[in-house]
Amino acid sequence: MSHAAVSPVLVIHGGAGVIKRDMTPAREKAVRAALTLALRDGYAQLKAGKPALDAVTAAIAVLEDDPNFNAGKGSVFTHDGKNEMDAAIMDGNTLRAGSVADVQRIKNPILLARAVMEKSSHVMLAGEGAEAFAQSVGMPLIDPSYFRTEERWQQLQKALKEDAAKQPHANVETAKHFGTVGAVALDSEGHLAAGTSTGGMTDKRWGRIGDSPIIGAGTYANAGCAVSGTGWGEFYIRTVAAHEICMKVTQMREPLKLAAAEVINQEIPSMGGNGGAIALDAEGHIAIPFNTDGMYRGWISADGVPHVAIYGDEDDGIAEPPAPAPADSGEQP
Ligand code: ASP
Repeated sequence: MSHAAVSPVLVIHGGAGVIKRDMTPAREKAVRAALTLALRDGYAQLKAGKPALDAVTAAIAVLEDDPNFNAGKGSVFTHDGKNEMDAAIMDGNTLRAGSVADVQRIKNPILLARAVMEKSSHVMLAGEGAEAFAQSVGMPLIDPSYFRTEERWQQLQKALKEDAAKQPHANVETAKHFGTVGAVALDSEGHLAAGTSTGGMTDKRWGRIGDSPIIGAGTYANAGCAVSGTGWGEFYIRTVAAHEICMKVTQMREPLKLAAAEVINQEIPSMGGNGGAIALDAEGHIAIPFNTDGMYRGWISADGVPHVAIYGDEDDGIAEPPAPAPADSGEQP
């Protein structure tokens, strides 16, 4: 599909599950500033006529570098006290995709996911193999201590104490999966892309891999729809959540908002899961459903003004779709 003059749009998230009483004014300020910066950096790519993939990559890299988010620096700890990160990116125009799982020495996992897509003949690489591939394309391996933050370490200590008091397979509460980052973008060519990056869930074990790097589960884009999810990954895998939303949009012709709400607000909670997602269609409609108290989120479009929100009762300004492309675009939505 080629559009003569599409208004670019970028939507980001920094994880679902935020709880108001856990926020401090300082954290709130830092999170809003980081989301704003990610929107600005990502949108600058779109403004310069770059592809949606570049906007997604740039926005996610900003959030990976910020310790307030569970991705890159500030990733949560596994049961064994390590940081094992997952990331994926997908180009809706070509259906090319790249993903990495369980990487421990890559500063920006989203960059490695993109390299997998662009420089390998595979879609998904894991662990040491992914890191060997990184070296083969000139990406340095860094010391794992870079990812450590004291706050995440304390979250693990708390989780370990809770574990000791119950069955190892018992359900985990929201606080264990929180702060994943993601982005979806529509570029001036009318092409969509999606990406997600995460440290996964605090206290995860046995090489657990979540939904974020699984194409179709936490990350998916095609010609008409792009989705990045965040939440209790096992449920996103079982519902193939991101793909499910996009199939409702592109195959069943459901409005984006309805499709996203059906999966995030109905299917996933009905199975006992929780979380949220950002979704974008080729006409620039945005949906940001979540079934948690809050979700770090933001979007930016034609007027270049970043919109950022955290709490569930906070207006994120997307009740109305963003302004349509100029009338001389030559194509009707
Ligand atoms: N979905 C991620 C995972 O399960 C966690 C999150 O979104 O916070 O690995």
